Amino acid sequence: MSGIQHFLFCRRQWALIHIEQQWQENYWTVDGRIMHENVHDSSFRTTRGDVITIRALRVHSNRLGVSGECDAVEFHADACGIKLAKTNGTWIPFPVEYKRGKPKEDIYDRAQLCAQAMCLEEMFCCSVKEGALYYGEPRRREIIKFTEELRNKVEKAFSEMHQLFKKGYTPKVTPKKACKSCSLSDKCLPELMNIQSVEDYMRTFL
Ligand code: SF4
Repeated sequence: MSGIQHFLFCRRQWALIHIEQQWQENYWTVDGRIMHENVHDSSFRTTRGDVITIRALRVHSNRLGVSGECDAVEFHADACGIKLAKTNGTWIPFPVEYKRGKPKEDIYDRAQLCAQAMCLEEMFCCSVKEGALYYGEPRRREIIKFTEELRNKVEKAFSEMHQLFKKGYTPKVTPKKACKSCSLSDKCLPELMNIQSVEDYMRTFL
């Protein structure tokens, strides 16, 4: 499920990681991984007032054909919610994803969170209208509404990901500004796009 952020960032990067099983660390990937290791304690469960928090909750969706793990899911007391084992009252899930750095303009983080919400809806047969992204630099959370538009983008992305995965197809390089910060640029080699092909070279030479 977390692959959706790679896919929306760059389809080729997603294919290199998830189809070709390539990976390479850089400063940002290590920083992000350390942050996630700190929050992924599956034994963590607290109840504070009207909120139960569970960390590292495994989620899946048969409809979307995806599975993954939420950093944390809060269950907020709500009269229209669902019952949970060993608790009184009714609750609505509220996914929380931890991210390094600052809030971003692009859709990647929001799409990942929305995918988690769609899994929770299917698993708990309820409606999840919002969740939160917690960013490390301002150290505060941003509430994200799961609009129809965002949900449609998530569905479309997963559908394309399944098609490419089935074909085992890695999209060609599309050089962009983001290549500079991409951890896989040494494996992807976007700069080779600017180099003449062997065939063209031979034709010129001959
Ligand atoms: S280097 Fe650029 S084209 Fe290649 S995977 Fe990274 S972002 Fe995509």
